[in-house]
Amino acid sequence: MPNPKDQPDRHYRGASTQSVHGGAARDKGFHAMTTPIVQTATFTFKNTAELIDFLDAKVYGGELDREEYARYGNPSTWSLEARIAQLEGAGDALVYPSGMSAVTSLFLTVLRPGTHIIMTDDCYRRTRQFCLTTLKKFGIETSIVPMCDYEALEAAIIPRKTRFIFTETPTNPYLRVVDLARLVDLARANRALTLLDTTFATPVNLRPLDYGIDFVLHSATKYFGGHNDVLGGAIAGDAGRIKALKDARGMFGNVIDPHQAFLIERGLKTLAVRVRHQNEAALQVARFLEQHNKIDRVHYPGLPAHPDHEIACAQMSGFGGVVSFEVAGDIHATSDFIDRLRIPYIAPSLGGTESLIEQPAYVSYYDLSPQERQAAGIGDNLVRFALGIEDAEDIIADLDDALRQVPSCVDTI
Ligand SMILES: *Cc1c(COP(=O)(O)O)cnc(C)c1O
Repeated sequence: MPNPKDQPDRHYRGASTQSVHGGAARDKGFHAMTTPIVQTATFTFKNTAELIDFLDAKVYGGELDREEYARYGNPSTWSLEARIAQLEGAGDALVYPSGMSAVTSLFLTVLRPGTHIIMTDDCYRRTRQFCLTTLKKFGIETSIVPMCDYEALEAAIIPRKTRFIFTETPTNPYLRVVDLARLVDLARANRALTLLDTTFATPVNLRPLDYGIDFVLHSATKYFGGHNDVLGGAIAGDAGRIKALKDARGMFGNVIDPHQAFLIERGLKTLAVRVRHQNEAALQVARFLEQHNKIDRVHYPGLPAHPDHEIACAQMSGFGGVVSFEVAGDIHATSDFIDRLRIPYIAPSLGGTESLIEQPAYVSYYDLSPQERQAAGIGDNLVRFALGIEDAEDIIADLDDALRQVPSCVDTI
């Protein structure tokens, strides 16, 4: 009888089983429960015949079950990549040393001079900068359209030139949710590829490839790693396209370190457990804030008042662990409130075990003038709260205490 634990392509239905066991079969031969950290720069061959077998497989497309040189790959990443592919329902996945490394490599690999990409306006700021500066130098133009404005998106398409439509969902900091079926229809009608950064959703809450999205991108620094202790990035998609990215990665040289891969795989095993907890806790926090008189507005797709609530309900199985809100007060009242909180650390990033809080007017947009920030839609009183895995009751009590001390605007009007 074949050993049931040895089947190379066991596919599980649940995200938690997938994160724990999704890549495990690939580890056979090591005998270790966990994936070993293969700390090596190169890999040896017994003799020339073994080398030639390997090269034949590599050149003529056979089964490759080993590595040659660590810039091309390391067994420490096989199981991690298999788990991510299974979670996303993808043909394959590839990991990178950071999320930015993943997105910049993808663009540099797939785009040619004279092509054009479209991105939405609340995309990650560094990605936008990369497109508007580096890609521009290589003769690639970028159009930026307002998030969820499908008419503007369609109008921005340049027939035969637009190669990529890039968006995020949910976005930062307003948690806007894009209608994937609509996006894919538009892209396909115009022969453009779609790239979706779903760092905020994770495959536990959203599986974009099921909607026909071509590439899914993650900053593994956030929920995948999940412990605020490691950087990483990942791309999932069709196996042939991922292979092209892997070949390019061998030239760019932006490979992940085996220890970094180990930490992300370890984090990934608890992804579904963490994210489901964060979904629930964030919804409670959002509801608490929404009814609070010291809060002007809450941005969370799980609330019926959010502009994308309906599509979020239809598309996502949870609304994620980030809640943005506007304090009823000015920039100082807002930072004063943040400083009074005991649980969240003041830090950029999200998706880890510890709650993190930031005032975008400072953290991401400090270099802009108040007018520029206003034009970018970043209010002085805006706060982004990225929940960790603490208990909702403690977070709410902490927020409640700090809000009590915000001077009430109602009195001064
Ligand atoms: C953090 C982040 C990135 C960049 O990822 P790094 O791992 O920091 O390079 C890209 N997109 C989103 C949505 C992010 O939150």
